[in-house]
Amino acid sequence: MTDPRTALVLFSGGQDSTACLAWALDRYARVETIGFDYGQRHRIELDCRQTVRRELAAAFPHWAARLGEDHVLDLSLLGQISACALTEARAIELQRNGLPNTFVPGRNLLFLGFAATLAYRRGASVLVGGMCETDFSGYPDCRDNTLKALQVALSLGLDAPMTIETPLMWLTKAQTWALTDALGGERLNALIVEHTHTCYLGQRGQLYPWGHGCGSCPACTLRRQGWEAWQAAR
Ligand code: ZN
Repeated sequence: MTDPRTALVLFSGGQDSTACLAWALDRYARVETIGFDYGQRHRIELDCRQTVRRELAAAFPHWAARLGEDHVLDLSLLGQISACALTEARAIELQRNGLPNTFVPGRNLLFLGFAATLAYRRGASVLVGGMCETDFSGYPDCRDNTLKALQVALSLGLDAPMTIETPLMWLTKAQTWALTDALGGERLNALIVEHTHTCYLGQRGQLYPWGHGCGSCPACTLRRQGWEAWQAAR
């Protein structure tokens, strides 16, 4: 049973958004992707996006038929309102994931706003994002109620239905591996291990069982722990 709507997936090239892309390709008649270019640190993720799209299409022909255009928006203007801006009045704090909150607060509200505008133009009425309350849920703009409120605001503001789907909202990192296993089996998880990017330091060098990365930054640690928990639970 295919949902006839077009979905626009917020796709960064990481594990979570690749899981969201697979989830959407399994469900919707047509799926497009959107990425945001907002700084050099994310260059590797942006490169991984194209590889993951290509590999998914090659490995899953029935998904390839549904996979539509990719869009990358230049959001370099976010640098103007990040914590290094001279206007910053709030103290830099450490978040629960061990990283400082130096980036733009509420950025997911901005991303989804831009995505909704693009979706409207593209005839898409579903936005899919990897926001999650389960693992490091320190971000208030990732919370379920925030996104439900935003869905209402966007649908009213566009005067068109705009559904926000967050398939990972209540999943642990281990359960995200289980989800992609259910969607595409070993082949999909091998693709995610090999081609998606996670490391905060932007390292791709070594390939661990759970993927490439430095192996010790908070993002690598979270991904490794999720992988190990999934392996233990199988
Ligand atoms: Zn790392």
